[in-house]
Amino acid sequence: MEANTTLAELFRRGVVLLGDRPQAVLEAKVLLLRAAAISEERYLAAPGSPCPAKAEAFFERLVAKRLDGVPLSHLTGTKEFWSIPFEVTLSVLAPRPETEGLVEKVLELSTRESETILDVGTGSGCIAIALAKELPRAEIQAVDISERALRVARRNAARQKVRHIEFRRSDLFSAFRGTGLRFDFIVSNPPYISRAEWDALEPDVRDFEPRRALLAGESGLETIERLVRRSGTFLKPGGYLVFEIGEGQRDNVLGLFSRRWTEIETAWDLAGKPRVITARRA
Ligand code: GLN
Repeated sequence: MEANTTLAELFRRGVVLLGDRPQAVLEAKVLLLRAAAISEERYLAAPGSPCPAKAEAFFERLVAKRLDGVPLSHLTGTKEFWSIPFEVTLSVLAPRPETEGLVEKVLELSTRESETILDVGTGSGCIAIALAKELPRAEIQAVDISERALRVARRNAARQKVRHIEFRRSDLFSAFRGTGLRFDFIVSNPPYISRAEWDALEPDVRDFEPRRALLAGESGLETIERLVRRSGTFLKPGGYLVFEIGEGQRDNVLGLFSRRWTEIETAWDLAGKPRVITARRA
């Protein structure tokens, strides 16, 4: 009987096949660990161990899909955010590293006491769950228009054992209308892409990420406008609105704030782009 291919041999085969991709080595490693269902530690301890034929076939399918443009996070089913592994599906946006800046901003402004936080458009739940882990005394609500996204978010929260988040379906603030509820923080990574930007997106974003989570409308500012205009009603006086924006949107977004807002600030991401806007309700 022919001996099985070793893990290291498969890894090298993957690197060759993925060779045109900038992250070929890393991607081959991630897919191999996924296919063989082993940890990196286990791989490093015994790279010469044989790989079961089933895992080898699975690995080859994963590599072929990657070459077809399927995002890595969808092949592994997880994406790391704030050093936490998040389950991702076709129903949620894969968390982006830039969004960690939003979490940082809230932590900077938080008193660490029992504050109330509302995450609008929670998707995978990444923002709410990262905040829940950092702020154990906070009372967090997380909403999304998509029931499917909420199911993913609830699973992510359960997996991280955070119990102080309440998830519910809501189109922006619709679930809170007439409740009189007001929050210390409203946070959001809303859809902010314009029609033209959507049309120009890479296929691996356009075909595998939910359009609703990305595309806002013709101008790209539609959801941010509604968020800014309506959030005043749901913030306590002195409460903060913290949200992410897209490229080139800063000037237009700053123009949306009336005189009822103070301390309007911008935080730049690691690529030097304006990325997170903070404003305080006067
Ligand atoms: N809040 C989620 C995230 O930051 C989803 C954002 C979205 O779907 N627009 O990834």
